[in-house]
Amino acid sequence: MADELSFRVLFVILYVIFIIPRGYYRFVKPRREKEETGETDRASVGRIQAVLTLIILGGLISSVLYILGLPLMDWFQIPQYPFLLRFAGVLLVLITIPLIAWIHRELDRQYSAVLEIQSDHQLITTGPYERVRHPMYTVLILFFFGLSLVSANLIVIVFAVLLMVAFPFWVRIEEEKMIEVFGEEYIEYVKRTGRFFPSISRT
Ligand code: SAH
Repeated sequence: MADELSFRVLFVILYVIFIIPRGYYRFVKPRREKEETGETDRASVGRIQAVLTLIILGGLISSVLYILGLPLMDWFQIPQYPFLLRFAGVLLVLITIPLIAWIHRELDRQYSAVLEIQSDHQLITTGPYERVRHPMYTVLILFFFGLSLVSANLIVIVFAVLLMVAFPFWVRIEEEKMIEVFGEEYIEYVKRTGRFFPSISRT
């Protein structure tokens, strides 16, 4: 598909624009020291982490294969894919870029790619965290879903949807950990916030 090339280029550009602010906070900004606290059910953490890692890996591999334009991936290009969906995908991705920068700035050094509590870890309840407990995961889900819509590739879209399905399981474990560490303060925070989106009834 000759004109798919322009969408593949767009896919890469959007991905790169997104990972610049994210990469800065993930790898450039110094973090606090990790500190082990409390007991978490390690078996369930390991299981869900393994499933999430597989989904992320699958998503990455299928994205790379799509970008390379391998004939194998051509079989999964959705025929007569509406241009509007590609356009919606681009919009979605563009919206997530300032949001991810804002979220990282607010979460600052409490951020970690894996679930860990660092020394002097503070509970953030301001900015994007004022009304939503997991804005970063919301933005990641929207980003990958948006990007998958740009690809019009069934495999890439399926992995983005799988990520959407898996995140709530991960969030349950993260919240257990937060309650272990912050106790009543986090329970109160849960009562006044939404999980992935602001909750109208809790405001
Ligand atoms: N789930 C959050 C944060 C993702 S980064 C979000 O989606 O925005 C993951 C780390 O953030 C975890 O190790 C957890 O300890 C920490 N964390 C999650 N919520 C937090 C909060 N409100 N304040 C401080 N740290 C938080």
